Amino acid sequence: MNKGLIIVFTGNGKGKTTAAIGQAMRAVGQGLKILMLQFIKGTWNYGELESIKRLGPDFKIKPLGKGFVRSNSKLSENEAKENVTQSWNQARNEILSDEYDMVILDEVNYVISYGLLPVEEVLTLFEEKPDRLHLILTGRDVHKSIVEKADLVTEMKEVKHQYSKGIKAQKGIEF
Ligand code: ATP
Ligand code: MG
Repeated sequence: MNKGLIIVFTGNGKGKTTAAIGQAMRAVGQGLKILMLQFIKGTWNYGELESIKRLGPDFKIKPLGKGFVRSNSKLSENEAKENVTQSWNQARNEILSDEYDMVILDEVNYVISYGLLPVEEVLTLFEEKPDRLHLILTGRDVHKSIVEKADLVTEMKEVKHQYSKGIKAQKGIEF
């Protein structure tokens, strides 16, 4: 019987979301069913939306609820929390549906570190999820209790990034 792992990609360097997608690419080839969920609206990168569509129905991608927009100053803290709660319930239902072998929670670390989602909710889901399901969490500033429970944690370390030279986001690299 396969053992579903809890996998984390964190750190300040580039490559967290793309590492999760890379892992999913490998898994699709092995016949696994994958769902990628997006916690932060507005950061969705169009490139992967298109490529994941081509891998459907084995690899699906869904934005969650209304998301949480970092730059949207019109959203009060309560509204942001309410949106995240809705998104979390949706993510929970998808994970517990038992339809998937791998679920990616993109940027979930961010909504936890920002105080919009209690870490206890996530730790409880680790216990409840189907045994075979691999759960991948991405985002900077992972909570230390998630690190304790996870099976595999990789921190992307920034050695150099072209942004610091003023090079703008490149098609196919950043989006
Ligand atoms: P990617 O989606 O390329 O795998 P990521 O998931 O590690 O990157 P995020 O923190 O989610 O990075 O940031 C989202 C966007 O910011 C992406 O377009 C990414 O290329 C860019 N980015 C990532 N790391 C850095 C960095 N150190 N400096 C500036 N921009 C970055
Ligand atoms: Mg990312």
